[in-house]
Amino acid sequence: MTALRGVGAALAQKLARLNVARVADLLFLLPLRYEDRTRVTAIGALLPGVRAAVEGEVQLTEVAYRGRRQLLCRISDGSGMLTLRFFYFSGSQQSNLARGTRLRCFGEVRRGPLGLEIVHPEYRRLLGEQAPLEESLTPIYPLTEGVPQGRLRALVAEALRELERSPLTDYLAGSAQLPQGLPTLAQALSYLHRPPREAQLEELAAGRHPAQQRLAFEELLAHHLTLKLRKRSLTKDPAFALADPDGLAQRFVAALPFVMTGAQARTLAEAERDLGGGAPMSRLVQGDVGCGKTVVAAAAAARAAGSGLQAALMAPTELLAEQHWRNFSQWFRPLSQTVALLSGSQPARTRRSALEAIASGEVRIVVGTHALFQEGIEFKNLALVIVDEQHRFGVQQRLKLQEKGHKTGRVPHQLIMTATPIPRTLAMTAYADLDISVIDELPPGRTPVQTVVIPEQRRAEVVERIVQACRAGRQAYWVCPLIEESDELRAQAAEETAASLTAALPGVRVGLVHGRMPPAAKDAAMLAFKAGKIQLLVATTVIEVGVDVPNATLMMIENAERMGLAQLHQLRGRVGRGTEASTCVLLYRAPLSPLARERLKVIRETNDGFEIARRDLALRGPGELLGTRQTGLAQLRVADLMRDAALLPRVQEAADKFLERDPDAIAALTARWVGEGERYGRVG
Ligand code: ADP
Ligand code: MG
Repeated sequence: MTALRGVGAALAQKLARLNVARVADLLFLLPLRYEDRTRVTAIGALLPGVRAAVEGEVQLTEVAYRGRRQLLCRISDGSGMLTLRFFYFSGSQQSNLARGTRLRCFGEVRRGPLGLEIVHPEYRRLLGEQAPLEESLTPIYPLTEGVPQGRLRALVAEALRELERSPLTDYLAGSAQLPQGLPTLAQALSYLHRPPREAQLEELAAGRHPAQQRLAFEELLAHHLTLKLRKRSLTKDPAFALADPDGLAQRFVAALPFVMTGAQARTLAEAERDLGGGAPMSRLVQGDVGCGKTVVAAAAAARAAGSGLQAALMAPTELLAEQHWRNFSQWFRPLSQTVALLSGSQPARTRRSALEAIASGEVRIVVGTHALFQEGIEFKNLALVIVDEQHRFGVQQRLKLQEKGHKTGRVPHQLIMTATPIPRTLAMTAYADLDISVIDELPPGRTPVQTVVIPEQRRAEVVERIVQACRAGRQAYWVCPLIEESDELRAQAAEETAASLTAALPGVRVGLVHGRMPPAAKDAAMLAFKAGKIQLLVATTVIEVGVDVPNATLMMIENAERMGLAQLHQLRGRVGRGTEASTCVLLYRAPLSPLARERLKVIRETNDGFEIARRDLALRGPGELLGTRQTGLAQLRVADLMRDAALLPRVQEAADKFLERDPDAIAALTARWVGEGERYGRVG
């Protein structure tokens, strides 16, 4: 297809903001919603909340002062009266709306002081002749500044005409891979830009219309193919074969203070098989909170060190990086391996010496935050990259760290850990570029966390529980409410909560961590909590990931009704890490929405992350993407990984067929749907 006709440079630039560069792109700029202007509703039949077109004759137009100056226009069609209310209006507008003028207007009907009304309707005057109504539903496109709806509609109409003259290649037409009942590409596109008046608006709004499903299928296929190709091209490059001649990894496992679970051992074996070959590993380790992913990662790092090469573990927060560093240091001490820490908050001297040791290869195991992949950090021979809590990182960050190994001419192996329990079909699509190991077993001796849901009014009882736990020598977390607005408000809320709990709990040592504290203070608080010097740790959701204090057996979560299932599950995973029975108290503020009620029920009923993920999928709280936010699939235009999960098995089959039989079509298909940077896995 050709460039946009009749579009000047200025408009082209604005369209570029909507990812529209060519005519074909316009076709893929899909409406956000539709309005029905194909029929006129009798005023007497209007209901509040409905967007409707009405016609009527002006009875009265006057400027009124009700708090502010406004123009009120009353129209009637014989079946009832409707008020049109304008806060912004001109003198000529006022005179255009003189008594007796016939109007057709469109807008959202609501209840007003004078009965039903529309505020700022779109309207036109009907002058004698019969003005035709729209024949199809009116698309509402995503707007960008300076491109009015009318202009976009005209451009799309032009693109649709062009589509008839020179059709887009339909890579799936007549293909057995396309699920039954889905239309061709051209049919789907023209339907979505111009749905007939009898189209089901609810089905369209839900994204479940076959035309939308057709596009979603193709989009998911394109992304899936991209990831598969990336995996292929990645495994073509050479990696270090980690032979570990002296069996450091084996000695590491033997020296641990515990025996690995069967699932840990299996996962480690899967990783070791990859690490021993010359092709780069890309393995995702999926396992519920507390299943013991860290030690598997450490054993893999031991294998790299035992091969005379380097391994780096990247954690999403300073807190977590330091915790890993401490664990690693402890585990590796008997094997005389030093572990370096690299974080953003280190004193310059410590950092400099760490950098030197990393560049010279003197240390082989490095733990850090995203500080690891920043400029100026040189590894001597990085052979293994471990990413913890990968959903906290972008794909780009992961790739950047991997690039740190390129100096050696070999691609580092990658071990990626996530506690996000994505159902298998989703994982296979979201992480189609990775092999997956699942740790589906918890270390022995854990007692499942008991979860109770309690209304805010009974806070006093909950505070009493803290006293009891502390008396029994245990520790507790208090997680402060989820405040969206800012870090600062969150920090403030945490400080206030800490102060009021300190006052309410004489004799209990209360500490505080939140995201706005200086890193050193944060660490000090965490360490004191770990050492038992603090008994109650008041925290924001910064403790959501990874923090491990087995003696903490009680967790209170305030305003739990505002949190998503995945986050609640992560938070709850901070307790129940020892042998002692643990409790998680979810405090909520009434009234609960049906969705919040259901979420709290799920989290109370089960401790199984995979079960929670399944139920989450069924409920799908807004904005909860189970950590797939960071994968390329988050930028989907039509498809929705959750909503369209049922398509995924077919998408995977279709991708395999394409790779096998039609490699030529793949480039064109992926170019249509997937951004360039993502297609090549390039680092921006
Ligand atoms: P996660 O998978 O959530 O990252 P961690 O790696 O933090 O879990 O492990 C949780 C806790 O379980 C840690 O204290 C860890 O030392 C301990 N642990 C791990 N594996 C075992 C095991 N096989 N037996 C006993 N404890 C274990
Ligand atoms: Mg962890």
